[in-house]
Amino acid sequence: MNASDFIHPDDAAALQALKKIPIFPAVMEKVFQYGLDEIQWSENVTMNLRLSDIQLPEIYKHLPPICHKLGIQIPELYLQMSPIPNAWTSGNNRVYIVVTLGLIKRFKDDELIAVLAHECGHILCQHVLYSMLANSLFNLGDVFVESIMGQIGSVAMKPLKQALMTWSRASELTADRVASFITSAATMTKVLAKLEGIPKTILNEMDYGAWTLQGADYENLKNGNSWKKIIRYIANTDLDHPYGPVRAYEVNQWEKSLQCQQLKNQVKLIENGKTCPQCGNFIDETWGFCKNCGNKLTNNKSS
Ligand SMILES: [Zn+2]
Ligand SMILES: [Zn+2]
Repeated sequence: MNASDFIHPDDAAALQALKKIPIFPAVMEKVFQYGLDEIQWSENVTMNLRLSDIQLPEIYKHLPPICHKLGIQIPELYLQMSPIPNAWTSGNNRVYIVVTLGLIKRFKDDELIAVLAHECGHILCQHVLYSMLANSLFNLGDVFVESIMGQIGSVAMKPLKQALMTWSRASELTADRVASFITSAATMTKVLAKLEGIPKTILNEMDYGAWTLQGADYENLKNGNSWKKIIRYIANTDLDHPYGPVRAYEVNQWEKSLQCQQLKNQVKLIENGKTCPQCGNFIDETWGFCKNCGNKLTNNKSS
């Protein structure tokens, strides 16, 4: 699988905009010179529980098949004992996924798989480095930012922060596509609702289709007169505003797309393992002729 199979157009556009910001490379270098990667890694390995075939295998077992399907190296997986359902991926030299106890307790197996696939999607699409930068600038506080960014100045930092935040949101849409590819858009929709913090009593009653349509309403604003004002407001506040229904709508739309269907068909053919004797491409056993080279195929249905 390639990043290009999944990348959301908003993600691609936001990344381009981000790379155009003149101070971006300098900030990137400063953060990593400071040792952010090593600091986060040392915290992770001392505070969280590393899962494996022998350490809570019932949780760990879900990760390798996803990586195998996506064709990525298996990252390390850690459990953080926080009661708040959450998951993230970090690490530049050594990539690792962290899931919280709150997530493990509240999420069913297929939902946990969707969450892990979402994180693996970030790895496949090479988001991790930029999202580490985004998290460090937004979560580690002004003291940290000032200590490493003193010379750059907060005025110059503002457009970078805005571009990073825009990209960060858009990158979630790409990772959601990977998650729905591994599970389904319906599963991912449930995951998003749970991550929004909607309580169980409401989750059991609510209509996910109607919730998803709220996202469509938001998307429709893009065509209206007020969209520019909304974008300016979002960019000027560091608010991580509610986004669940938009993500749900986007991922459901993608599942219906030709791109997603073709990808699923291709994977099915690979998993079947039948190849054309003439060109060697994967074939469907119901085909009379190879769709790649036109070679007449003997019907091997009965074999
Ligand atoms: Zn994500
Ligand atoms: Zn062929």
